Amino acid sequence: MSAIVVFVDQLDVPGKLSGTATQLLTLARGAGEPVAVVAGPVGADVLAELGTYGVARVLNSEQPELGQFLVAPKADLVAQAAAAVSASAVLVDNSAAGKEIAARVGVTLNAGVITDAVSVTVDGGTLTAHKSVLAGSWTVEARATSAVTVIAVKSHAVEAAPAAAPTAPAVEAIEVAFAPASLGARVVSRTPRAASGRPELEDARIVVAGGRGVDGDFTPIEELADVLGAAVGASRAATDAGWISHASQVGQTGKKVSPQLYISVGISGAIQQKAGMQTSKLIVAVNKDSESPIFEIADFGIVGDLFQVLPQAVEEIKRRRA
Ligand SMILES: Cc1cc2nc3c(=O)[nH]c(=O)nc-3n(C[C@H](O)[C@H](O)[C@H](O)COP(=O)(O)OP(=O)(O)OC[C@H]3O[C@@H](n4cnc5c(N)ncnc54)[C@H](O)[C@@H]3O)c2cc1C
Repeated sequence: MSAIVVFVDQLDVPGKLSGTATQLLTLARGAGEPVAVVAGPVGADVLAELGTYGVARVLNSEQPELGQFLVAPKADLVAQAAAAVSASAVLVDNSAAGKEIAARVGVTLNAGVITDAVSVTVDGGTLTAHKSVLAGSWTVEARATSAVTVIAVKSHAVEAAPAAAPTAPAVEAIEVAFAPASLGARVVSRTPRAASGRPELEDARIVVAGGRGVDGDFTPIEELADVLGAAVGASRAATDAGWISHASQVGQTGKKVSPQLYISVGISGAIQQKAGMQTSKLIVAVNKDSESPIFEIADFGIVGDLFQVLPQAVEEIKRRRA
């Protein structure tokens, strides 16, 4: 079985694997022998979790350069680790940093790079990435023709699942030789964003998104999001109006999300909005206009006033959980 490298970044949030990392490890296990390449510390908790996902081999570096500079040193780590284990594929998350790492690793390893994969299938060890392109109007299957494949995979492309039998991973320290150009952009300060208590939009299993229909009041959206443990998203009309931060915008010029459940509220479903959410596994739409285009892609639709529908939904969810 060939080695499938998964990049695991433990620098920002040490002590626990991210949801995306567990999904990528699950994917790697189905394609070959998963090898975790970890930037940052690998404590007992992380090691146990890696074992849960069937990782037998961990390559790890805690060199300070990995955290002191922008993403280039991490790409050096991934490329050198992938070469060391003769990996046939490298999987990274589809964040801006992940995509830059993918590109840099592709150049170093002379490997084909595929980004924005909404799912990945495996056939006889060959990885095929599935993409949704041209504002979601086409789906594309892409395969690298090079010896090594590098794929940046969106959150929830695969459901994380523990291995049938856990492994006891062996950790090997790797001494990365950083390219001088990789140390060109130093991070001089970091200010963590104030935590909202809600999951990150791109990692969330459930997203509740509001549009112009909320008329400036996101309270019903936030209340539904909180009973569901969901992230809050928005259409551009809502972010442009200043009702919610631009970081919450979903769509062609916003975040691209593929949650298990996307609840679209007071959003008409313009093509630029669909481009960011139509690969969601289940779409529920609440809109008072039965002719709204959002209903063309919704799995379930409720025609009604969001200010009446959402509070009832919140009450019912709370009642059933009581
Ligand atoms: C280059 C470009 C890039 C763009 N990028 C993005 C992007 O990334 N993301 C994005 O979202 N848009 C984007 N847009 C804008 C996009 O074209 C639409 O204008 C925008 O998505 C509309 O937002 P909306 O659906 O919230 O508003 P509207 O189209 O005004 O729809 C509001 C909806 O709310 C419903 N409604 C009103 N009141 C209620 C109520 N009380 N209860 C229930 N339903 C109600 C209405 O029936 C209507 O369907 C982009 C546009 C361009 C040109």
